[in-house]
Amino acid sequence: MNISTAFDVNIKQKKISMGDFDFYLVMDGYYRLDGGSMYGMVPKQIWEKFERYDERNRLYMAMNCLLVRKGDEIYLVDVGIGDKLDEKGREIFGIEKEKTLIQEMADVGVSPDMVTHVILTHMHFDHTGWIQDGEGNLIFRNARHYIQRTEWEEALEPHMRFKNSYLRNYYSALMGSNQLVLLDGDKDIDENVSVIFAPGHSKGHQIVVFDSGERKFAHFGDIVALASQVRQNWVCGFDRSPEDTVTNKMPILERAFEENWLIMSAHDRTIRIGELQKVKGKFRLKKIL
Ligand SMILES: [Zn+2]
Repeated sequence: MNISTAFDVNIKQKKISMGDFDFYLVMDGYYRLDGGSMYGMVPKQIWEKFERYDERNRLYMAMNCLLVRKGDEIYLVDVGIGDKLDEKGREIFGIEKEKTLIQEMADVGVSPDMVTHVILTHMHFDHTGWIQDGEGNLIFRNARHYIQRTEWEEALEPHMRFKNSYLRNYYSALMGSNQLVLLDGDKDIDENVSVIFAPGHSKGHQIVVFDSGERKFAHFGDIVALASQVRQNWVCGFDRSPEDTVTNKMPILERAFEENWLIMSAHDRTIRIGELQKVKGKFRLKKIL
């Protein structure tokens, strides 16, 4: 059954309000990744029909982070790519920023000190950019940081195949910190805020779910890096364990469809927030914002 409940969308503020929650899309600009890496087994002759890509075959992508306000509690899911890449790195990834994540947060009245919870879907460098500054100080210095234990262990000692995705100088300030909270599997973080363990893209990947009482709102991380990845076998070519991504994502997507969740994609620059539909039995993400 499909539950349809109204919510308010403020397009200018990139804000959706439901129940006691205000959800903001806050971005850390744009970047580009190789189309083949993002699409894995899906051939270019299929994905090129609906993706924009440049002369170097790189897809145009966004860094979509989720800021959530509920009274005095302020949650941030994923923290972009940050400002630590050198010029060569910025060129390789085609970084384009009118505003940083921190500036987008300021636009809606939130300073880093106000954030109470930072929840990280996983520790790849394009999700952990603003954990610490260049001097190694935590940027969200009053926040607890929630990470799956298996992901944290991988981030400190990555498998050699993935060592370029985990950059210790992006998160070393959390080592031994009492602001680091390690999670083992599905957990409630707070009243109406929980994580679902969904490894595959990385060893300890999780998705984050907010229950407004009316509808749920979830950041799916790199399980839905691109909106097209709600399709069953469409996963990133660099997933640590692509078959696990598929096995783990399908029951969550079924539940999200049944309960009509709002879903944020991690990197789609067109469908940043959407809701699931089924077309001939297959999932599609319909754009809301
Ligand atoms: Zn990732």
